[in-house]
Amino acid sequence: MPERVIIIGSGPAGWTAAIYAARAALEPLVFEGALTEENRLAGTLPLGQLALTTEVENYPGFPAGDVGTYFDNAMAGSMDDSTRKYLAGSTKEGITGPTLMELMRQQAINFGTRVMTQDIVEVDFDGHPFELTASDGETYEALAVIVATGARANYMGLPSEEKYKNLGVSACAICDGALPRFRNKPLVVVGGGDSAVEEADYLSKFAETVYMVHRRDELRASKIMAARAMDNPKIEILWNRVLEEVLGNESDGVTGVRLKSTTGEADLEVEATGLFLAIGHTPNTAFLAGKLEMNEKKYIRWTTPGRTHTSVEGVFAAGDVSDDYYRQAVTAAGTGCMAALDAERWLAAKGL
Ligand code: NAP
Repeated sequence: MPERVIIIGSGPAGWTAAIYAARAALEPLVFEGALTEENRLAGTLPLGQLALTTEVENYPGFPAGDVGTYFDNAMAGSMDDSTRKYLAGSTKEGITGPTLMELMRQQAINFGTRVMTQDIVEVDFDGHPFELTASDGETYEALAVIVATGARANYMGLPSEEKYKNLGVSACAICDGALPRFRNKPLVVVGGGDSAVEEADYLSKFAETVYMVHRRDELRASKIMAARAMDNPKIEILWNRVLEEVLGNESDGVTGVRLKSTTGEADLEVEATGLFLAIGHTPNTAFLAGKLEMNEKKYIRWTTPGRTHTSVEGVFAAGDVSDDYYRQAVTAAGTGCMAALDAERWLAAKGL
């Protein structure tokens, strides 16, 4: 018997799709990804990008601070029993990305979602039911598929960067930043967006100095994040510079970086034991090449505006894999919900 819905991916989009599909009695099967070194290096482990972050300050429903005071203000003493019970157990610390993802996963399982800790490495959407091949070689049939494989961090593509991956080069400060090699040492973060600021700010807790290298003279980061970088005495921004080479040796790994100027200045060498890339993302769609329509950046294209339908009837896409614009946990969760409803309605319309 084919599965009714297979969901590929385990970020906010995947789990929200699973919660809705399970509650619609579709008994979804989620492929959450495999626990491999390759996935770790690529930043594509189960639970997605949120599992690589610390506090999530902008996911609605998890405010940090003394929430008791908020409720007193907002509800003027009319607190109901369930709110009182929640407050009694509240840590008042907001929520971290990994915890939020574990909670979403558990919520999906509570409604009957089944989970395989495997990647889907190949799809056949030519016939129906669709056929999906997992990384252990097993094949699975599905009447509907929801792709929610997200996106991963980009690298510059320099040979020296590749050479020192795991020896001081990383695209995830949260995962690697606390390692001994980075403590009380100068570090470099490349990028000028919110991620770069977030990484630099996080690393400044361990590092002696964090140099943010940006190719222009103005940050792309939002005003509040940019101020965080400017106001942090441990962060120094090197404007109008691009990474040309990662310097290092076999025994010490990264020892520094050479930076080119974008305004005709001389090259600059900066000593550092770590280099963190924060220069945007690439969608995890390589296994779908030629199977679904994508945009020029390889994000899956929604073929009906405002719906999660893709170029193959019965295949739906949700979250960052089909969104190069908003890329937020809450928007991913929202489109995950949409994909489950779209799949449910499509199956019903087809009498499947
Ligand atoms: P982003 O906003 O696309 O920024 C990427 C940065 O990397 C830009 O400053 C870009 O420079 C630079 N860059 C790209 N390619 C480069 C290259 N080859 N060489 C040198 N520099 C390069 O990506 P992001 O920072 O990952 O953020 C993605 C989305 O997530 C955004 O919507 C952001 O607001 C959101 N986000 C939010 C938070 C938060 O609110 N706490 C945290 C992280 C991310 P240019 O500026 O010159 O293009």
